[in-house]
Amino acid sequence: MKKFLKLTSVLAFIVLIVFVLIRIPAIQDRIAPLAMVALLSPADLPEEDSLSALVCGSASPLGATDRAQTCIMVRAGDEIYIVDIGDGANRNLGRWRIPMNKVQAVLLTHLHSDHISDLADLHLATWIPNRKSQLKVYGPQGVEFVTRGFEEAYQSDYFFRNEHHGDEVAPLHSVGFEPITIDLNKPIIIEKDGLKVTAFEVPHDPVKPALAFRFDYKGRSIVISGDTIYSENLISYSKDADVLFHEALSMNIVSMMEGFTKRSGNDLLSKILFDVQDYHTDPVDAAKAANEAGVKHLIFYHLAPAPANWLIEGMFVRGVNSIRDDWTLSDDGTMVVLPVNSEEIKISTID
Ligand SMILES: [Zn+2]
Ligand SMILES: [Zn+2]
Repeated sequence: MKKFLKLTSVLAFIVLIVFVLIRIPAIQDRIAPLAMVALLSPADLPEEDSLSALVCGSASPLGATDRAQTCIMVRAGDEIYIVDIGDGANRNLGRWRIPMNKVQAVLLTHLHSDHISDLADLHLATWIPNRKSQLKVYGPQGVEFVTRGFEEAYQSDYFFRNEHHGDEVAPLHSVGFEPITIDLNKPIIIEKDGLKVTAFEVPHDPVKPALAFRFDYKGRSIVISGDTIYSENLISYSKDADVLFHEALSMNIVSMMEGFTKRSGNDLLSKILFDVQDYHTDPVDAAKAANEAGVKHLIFYHLAPAPANWLIEGMFVRGVNSIRDDWTLSDDGTMVVLPVNSEEIKISTID
């Protein structure tokens, strides 16, 4: 007991000394550069030649969460593509020190706000490291209205930054977007350095067209569903893919929330919670779709609602284990790496 008391007082003394020391300006100035080194160190991305994907936003608009909304960063070799860029996703990319000068293009599955709202900040984050040309944005019909709208809203910002930092840092020749409307009659939208990206339609009515993307790189493959109900088209384009990212809405939880809000007299929210159930996929149905496609690993993303604790997490994936074994419920930072010339599927979390 005496020993314990002695140890506790020594620890308390050390904490007190540290507490006092970090308030001294000279000590602060010594410590700060060490933290800055950590901030500037490059992201912990795979060095081997691989196709990989990083969840830069795992949430949907439904539910209160500090996660970012929809975003998947796909990396083929050294080149980066961003599929959807919902609220908070760009901050995640910055926090993880992703090399934004490697971003080749943004691919939008559809034009709901939770898939496009961080486009302005992604534009800035890729422009200032001296992007050589305008930011390419592939998307369905209407994509040019989105990019033009952002350009108009940020017109003054572009000029202020150019005037302040000069052409070397913020060149006007590369400011803004290059929108590319996807024509489903020509579904291969990118074919470059071993990478092939195919766009196809998924049902998310009344949003038409809503798209999904398949990435093939040197024998490895990733499919990203976008927002969809259970879809035969998605299954056929996902045939034998290594990884399928499938959106997921727990019908069990959302219908429970719908009933609760109705009983509480919040008819408007109750109606919204009813409406959203007809254009998303329950995790059990997503698992069935993954099985039918024969994909090796299934990752749930665009979670509605994004589980805030282990209780909700358990409810969210209820029944999935009886359908298939290989699946992951994503969080912001979930990363999957598929090395080329290999069958390996490595799942980890970046921070
Ligand atoms: Zn969505
Ligand atoms: Zn949507």
